[in-house]
Amino acid sequence: MGVNGKVRVYFKELTLSTKTQYELIDITYEVEKAVRDSGISNGLCIIHAPHATAAIIANENEAGLIQDIIRSIKELYPRNAGWKHDIIDDNAAAHLGSAMIGSTRIFPVKDGRLVRGTWQNIFLVEMDGPRPYRRVVIEVIGE
Ligand code: ZN
Repeated sequence: MGVNGKVRVYFKELTLSTKTQYELIDITYEVEKAVRDSGISNGLCIIHAPHATAAIIANENEAGLIQDIIRSIKELYPRNAGWKHDIIDDNAAAHLGSAMIGSTRIFPVKDGRLVRGTWQNIFLVEMDGPRPYRRVVIEVIGE
């Protein structure tokens, strides 16, 4: 922060619905809009999914790659693989995916813009859909 900079916090919550069990939803537009709306020039943007069976990732929005990402998640965390959580709830694979991939990503904000690579779109990763209400919290912190 600058010597005289006053830290500000901007908070935005998105509500999304998912249509299938596994799905990537591109939220780049909404995240960049939140950074613009925040009026914050320099700081951090936190993107957080407050869910135990979903995750946040950054990568290229290319149809084949999206299928590859979903396939790799399914291969890394297969369903019906004898997970103990499946005894009480049928979604251990989704919990494992969320735990290992992570439900939060942080990007720098510089000169009023989110700093990301050209092929780094931001996605909510659904692993236990369909769900009528998935939330994504975007918090921009800076000056
Ligand atoms: Zn569960």
